[in-house]
Amino acid sequence: MACKAYKKMDEKDLEFFRDILKDSKRVLVGDRINPDYGHDEIDCIGVEERLPDAVLRVLTTEEVSKIMKHCNEQLIPVVVRAAGTGLVGGAMPVMDCVMIDTTLMDKILELDKENLTMTVQPGLLYQDCVEYAAQNGYMYCPDPGSKTSTIGGNIACNAGGMRAIKYGCTRESVRGLTVVMPDGSIMNFGGKMVKNTSGYSLKDLIVGSEGTLAVITEAILKLIPLPKCTISLLLPFDDIDAAMEMVPKLVTFDTAPAAIEYCSKECIDNAKKYLDKGFPSNEYPAYLLLTYDGTDEDIVLKEIEKLIDYAMENGAMGEPLLVDSPDRHRQTWGTRSVFLEAIQASTSMMDECDVVVPRSAIADFLKLVTATSEKYDMRLPCFGHAGDGNLHVYLCKDNMSEADFMEKAVFVFNDLYDGAKKMGGAISGEHGIGFAKLPYLRREEGDEFMELMHRIKLAFDPNEILNPGKVCY
Ligand SMILES: Cc1cc2nc3c(=O)[nH]c(=O)nc-3n(C[C@H](O)[C@H](O)[C@H](O)COP(=O)(O)OP(=O)(O)OC[C@H]3O[C@@H](n4cnc5c(N)ncnc54)[C@H](O)[C@@H]3O)c2cc1C
Repeated sequence: MACKAYKKMDEKDLEFFRDILKDSKRVLVGDRINPDYGHDEIDCIGVEERLPDAVLRVLTTEEVSKIMKHCNEQLIPVVVRAAGTGLVGGAMPVMDCVMIDTTLMDKILELDKENLTMTVQPGLLYQDCVEYAAQNGYMYCPDPGSKTSTIGGNIACNAGGMRAIKYGCTRESVRGLTVVMPDGSIMNFGGKMVKNTSGYSLKDLIVGSEGTLAVITEAILKLIPLPKCTISLLLPFDDIDAAMEMVPKLVTFDTAPAAIEYCSKECIDNAKKYLDKGFPSNEYPAYLLLTYDGTDEDIVLKEIEKLIDYAMENGAMGEPLLVDSPDRHRQTWGTRSVFLEAIQASTSMMDECDVVVPRSAIADFLKLVTATSEKYDMRLPCFGHAGDGNLHVYLCKDNMSEADFMEKAVFVFNDLYDGAKKMGGAISGEHGIGFAKLPYLRREEGDEFMELMHRIKLAFDPNEILNPGKVCY
């Protein structure tokens, strides 16, 4: 934890913020601060909720700059928050602080058809960004499950999602950033260029920095022409190991899948209870949900046929199902998209493990999840981006007392993270470290790694006022 002598915001600071933002509706204090500002989307166990002293709903880069300059001079900690869909407490206040809320900065500023870029403000919702690009014949490639998260939040977390296997995570789709540094200065990193080797890639350092290095106020995003056809395929397996062992083989075909999602029967059944509708098939213990996209439907379908033949010959499989009509697509992906909420609804409290391992180790990691669940007698439903080696494992409290759950959870996390590390993996594939995963990051990566990250933090933020206590402490 940062150990600066921070100042708590007082009436004079508040007056200054009101003066900058002019509109009193954009400066929230006391009862006007919604309790949601005290947490993000998950019970990060052991993390106490607290509200910020003020929420500042910014509209421009200049407003952010003035706020940061003042807070830096006064040593007032600042937390940036967007849609609050994070899963590791990154946008949670963990000490007295003011909060910059970026959700009103939601404009699309430019679509550049020559450079295939789109320039946006950080509070733009992911779903609005993708929809606007598609209406104009382009695809913004990242595809995180949380469609109501923001582009700024996605960049800050380097969000992954379903299409990362083919198109990369958010970082691969960010060309340039305008940021406000902790001292209030405004900087541009990257731009519309396709490539750039001019010094360290500071743009790439900001991507994934979880609001600890600078505030993102504008982003230039890479677009590609919208694929003309997108077809999904559901492969049912009698045996979970067979499903997992097939994953590395499925990416070696001529056409790379855009998604390979692992869906367990438990998650499908939970989603069915939650939504009252489910997959077109749910009797098998494991499913792989794949997506292929391309410019020519015949070529895509031929490739899918080859893959089905291979999978039928080599896995303990049931009848594959093409997800090729809009209704079936909505049914299947709609069910997949509520897996997390459905698990949340199935238990009294939960926390999650977003581990990533090399794709070739995913079957072994899933065996470890099963063994850990039995060892600690804790339900650990699991699904995820199998094609990226990235599984989401949920630790469910169910009927345990809170104290028992919290005690056991530490052992479960340690066993899963230690196992992943031995397999050549890491503790987070896409959700980040925030506050909740800090002790585990230190445990797995060691002091030298953490100190190097902290020195980078100090180069950007010598007074440690931006999201202190997160990611590198
Ligand atoms: C149902 C569900 C499904 C999800 N699926 C996925 C998935 O498939 N892939 C994935 O990667 N994640 C997923 N997530 C996690 C989460 O949605 C992502 O991490 C998302 O990128 C967070 O965006 P947000 O706008 O909600 O940011 P917040 O939660 O508000 O903030 C997240 C972090 O970003 C920082 N931040 C936000 N805006 C800025 C800014 N402008 N400048 C600097 N820092 C900033 C905050 O300080 C915080 O540390 C999922 C979450 C849910 C609830």
